[in-house]
Amino acid sequence: KETLLEVNNLVTEFRTKEGPVQAVRDVSFSVRKGETLCIVGESGCGKSITSLSVIGLLPENGRIANGEVRYKGEAIHNLSAEKKRLMRGSEISMIFQEPMTALNPVLTVGYQLREPLMIHHGMSKQQATTRGIELLNQVGIPYPEKRMNQYPHELSGGMRQRVMIAIALAGDPGLLIADEPTTALDVTIQAQILDLINELKDRLDMGVMFITHDMGVVAEVADRVMVMYAGQKIEEGPVEEIFDRPKHPYTRGLLGSVPNVDDPTFELHPIPGTLPSLTEQIQGCRFHPRCLFAMDRCRQQVPPEDDLGNGHYVSCWLTREEAVSDGVGTNDEG
Ligand code: SF4
Ligand code: MG
Repeated sequence: KETLLEVNNLVTEFRTKEGPVQAVRDVSFSVRKGETLCIVGESGCGKSITSLSVIGLLPENGRIANGEVRYKGEAIHNLSAEKKRLMRGSEISMIFQEPMTALNPVLTVGYQLREPLMIHHGMSKQQATTRGIELLNQVGIPYPEKRMNQYPHELSGGMRQRVMIAIALAGDPGLLIADEPTTALDVTIQAQILDLINELKDRLDMGVMFITHDMGVVAEVADRVMVMYAGQKIEEGPVEEIFDRPKHPYTRGLLGSVPNVDDPTFELHPIPGTLPSLTEQIQGCRFHPRCLFAMDRCRQQVPPEDDLGNGHYVSCWLTREEAVSDGVGTNDEG
């Protein structure tokens, strides 16, 4: 399928009192039409900053210091603020964790739906109302005519997230970025919203970039997975590969902390330690202070990215050694 988004060697930097710090370190990935790429990692790993870099919404003190972002082949990381704003309404849309902060509390649902339609599609108020009702229908909101006249606080959390999605779809985006959109919702509602996002992806043939810390959510929505740690991509692959054959010790740790509902004796195995701060200097593999398998080499040299086939990539010395010893084992006298 057609590649929608291509991110090459992205470096995103923040100005701080202590000097520049890198929140995203040389990250490359792509998203195709009709597929969901999940970017997964702990809070602070750079996954949200990656998405804000893509959509051009970095905070004042942040900037793309290196690399490029391409949408449908065209470089978008260096567009003017005005062009980025136009792109956000029509090509790339984003939904966030807390729709209450993204929705304007003093404006009706109808007003907030009509506005982008009138701005981006030059619709009249009447046309925008009709299309707004259609969009509410599309995201599974019952009695859409009535909802148009309501204010955000009159809706439940799940309904508000549906409204956010409807607004995000108003400009017919090719790419939807969803940053932890269900984290604030209870489990049942979360499942419904994930179903909705899956259904819309298929029906509208959208690319979806889905940011989450939750491997349970990854299992529900991902076609491909990119795991980030301390600003870097450490593993990437099709969702079955990542779940069935995780290679990086960090990915294995994340999967170990997914509760197994079929196993009543299951215990959580959280990964010991915490993410390093962005300013911390770490030699070699940035995960080595927390890694149970760290070797001397890990403390000295950054592991390069290895291609394992099937679109599966990993950056880890241990995996490389395992691959080598497996290879030797087949030819060897022992
Ligand atoms: Fe652990 Fe070394 Fe692999 Fe890093 S490179 S994850 S320290 S085994
Ligand atoms: Mg975040």
